[in-house]
Order: sequence, then structure tokens, then C-alpha cells
Amino acid sequence: MIYLDHAATTPVHPEALKAAWPWLTNEFGNASSHHELGYRASAALEDARMRVARKLNCRTSEVTFTSGGTESDNLGIIGLALANPRGKHIVTAPTEHNAVLQAADYLQRLHGFEVTFVPVDSQGNITAEGLRTALRAETTLVTLMVANNEVGTVHDLATLVPIAHEFGALFHTDAVQVAGWQPIDVAELGVDALSISGHKFGAPKGSGALFVRGRLALEPVIHGGGQEFGRRSGTENVAWAVAVATSLELIDVSADEQVRVANLRDEFIASVLAISPKISLTGNPQVRLVNIASFVVDGVSGESMLLALEERGIICSSGSACAAGDDKPSHVLTAMGYEPDFALTAIRFSLGHETTAEDLQAALAALQDFLK
Ligand code: PLP
Repeated sequence: MIYLDHAATTPVHPEALKAAWPWLTNEFGNASSHHELGYRASAALEDARMRVARKLNCRTSEVTFTSGGTESDNLGIIGLALANPRGKHIVTAPTEHNAVLQAADYLQRLHGFEVTFVPVDSQGNITAEGLRTALRAETTLVTLMVANNEVGTVHDLATLVPIAHEFGALFHTDAVQVAGWQPIDVAELGVDALSISGHKFGAPKGSGALFVRGRLALEPVIHGGGQEFGRRSGTENVAWAVAVATSLELIDVSADEQVRVANLRDEFIASVLAISPKISLTGNPQVRLVNIASFVVDGVSGESMLLALEERGIICSSGSACAAGDDKPSHVLTAMGYEPDFALTAIRFSLGHETTAEDLQAALAALQDFLK
């Protein structure tokens, strides 16, 4: 089996599991308990927090551990919007992950917020002008992802974040897809909040973290015992926090690795496009995640390609994993202007750090065989 669905999830790194193991076995203490076992768990949790903070270039107190990308997005968006209401207006884009879109929808339905969507072009790009037009004096929060999970388009946050700040709005970003591929420096990005998900970079599913800048007020979405500085109640998952810190340290986000994988991706994209004129690339051809090669194939359903490739030993995706299983056209592609029927012809290959040129040759041969 050749696994080319790393944007959906990644295998757990053996070292992350090894580091987590003691906190699942002998060292099973509750990090809030006032005895030795609890103190050791608490020390491990705080050590993990410090290591994550170091990787994100922020302070330890700015890191909240969560159950993953979905929770981080919900807490970041709902938490900031409710606690810092300059006005009941937030800005996002129609190509965001459902974790973001549904959090915005919740604010709209239950808290009377207005949501403005910044338009995207046919490659999923957002312009500075588009954001400016969406912003108002009463905008509380802008939430725009670093890079899209379905088509790989990377947004120009260096331009977008200062524009939001000019209007006095806070900026949250979903960095779930880039965390395993490029260094994340929240100071350099200038964002006020940022979400990561452990299972996208070698930690277990159900692990993640949210960065929230300084002393910004954050209304919790999970209420209870006041753990995580009162930001996220619930007995802390020490093992998964340790795994997140360990895999974040181990994952290779060097420039060399990015170039190596981007070259593999580009060769693969060129070879796939050469199969047939009916195939076209989705997303921005240049400014895209190093590991995502996504296409639409005129007249061929994504689901049928997915099944045919799986029969040939290739695992990929026909849309986003979270929307898998329902055959609705991708909201990302339709927002980019694709007709719903055309959007159903999408297929996505997402490379991992261990993906080889031979793996991609095999995927190419399987696709060629099916489409011939
Ligand atoms: N945001 C993006 C961009 C994603 O790709 C995903 C998962 O596919 C999520 C959020 C949700 O993360 P999780 O699966 O950890 O809840």
C-alpha cells in the first residue's frame, strides 16, 4: 500500500509514542492532583508546553493544549469573538475548513454576529483588496488559514494580517496543514491566535494546541474545572501533550526538506497533467503547500478514481477527509467557481516526509491505467 493521504492524517511517529508511553502507563497521575504522581504529570505537561512554545516562538502561557484542530479553531474563533466584541462582526473565507466555517456559523446563529466572506479567485487566492472591502470599524476578528487543505493554496498572511490590524481586528489562523511542513513563528506571522493539530505531523489523533497572544481575553467553550489557565477545562491529556511537543520537535521543516518534497510534487503534477488534457490542477500552481497535488478530471468522479486507485494499492483522497463519505461537492472548489458536477471530479494526493519518487511513479501508473 502506498499512502498519499497525509493531509488527512499522518502515521504516529514512533518517538512521539515512546515519549507519550510513560504518561499512559506508570505515570498515570492527574496533572491537577496534589501528590507526587500529580506533580510529575504536571511537570511533564508544563515541559511539553514550554517545548511547543519554543517551536512556535511564543511564551509558555500562550499555549493551550486541545483535542485537535477542530477544537483549536472553535476555541480561537468563538473564544476571541465572545470575549473581545468590538462589534459583532467577523471575517473569514468560504474556502476555510468546516471547523472554522461552523464556528462562524455558530456565532451568527446563537450570538447575533454577522459574518462576511472574503471572495476567493479560481485558484483560492485572497487579495488585500478583498480583505479591505470586507473589514469594518466593528470587525472583531478575521480568521483566514495559512494554507488550504484541499487545494494547497497558501495565503499571503504577511500582507493580510497587518490589514486586519489596521482596522483594529484580531487575526486567528488555522495553521493545521502547514505545521508539518514549515517552521511556524507566531511573532513573525503577527497573528493573535493560531491552531495546530497533532495528527497532521506525527502525534496521535485527538491532540493539538492553540496559541493565543499575551493577555487577550478568551471565553472558554468547554466549561469545568478551569484547567489550562481557565481556557480549556477537562483533565489534561499529558501523554498527548508530550507527543505533540515531541513530534513538533522531530518533524523536518528545514528549507532543504521543503525543496525536496516540492520538487517531487512538481514532477508528479507535471506527469499527471501530461496523462490527459481532461486533467487540470486545482489551487495556486506556484504558491502552494509543498505536499499537495490536487486535480479535477473532467467527466470522471473523484470517488471512482479513489476506489480504482485503492484497488491498485494507492491511497489518496477525493476531497477533504472530513467531508469524505458524503458525495456533496467540495465547498472549497465550488467557492473557487467550479460547477458542482465538476467539483465532484476532484482527487488529492498529499505527500509525506517518507514519500519517495517510486511511490509517485506507482501512483501515476495506477492513474494512467485507470484513465486509459
Ligand atoms: N483545519 C484544517 C485545515 C484541517 O485540514 C483539519 C483536518 O483535516 C482541521 C482543521 C481539523 O483538525 P482535527 O482533525 O485535528 O480536528
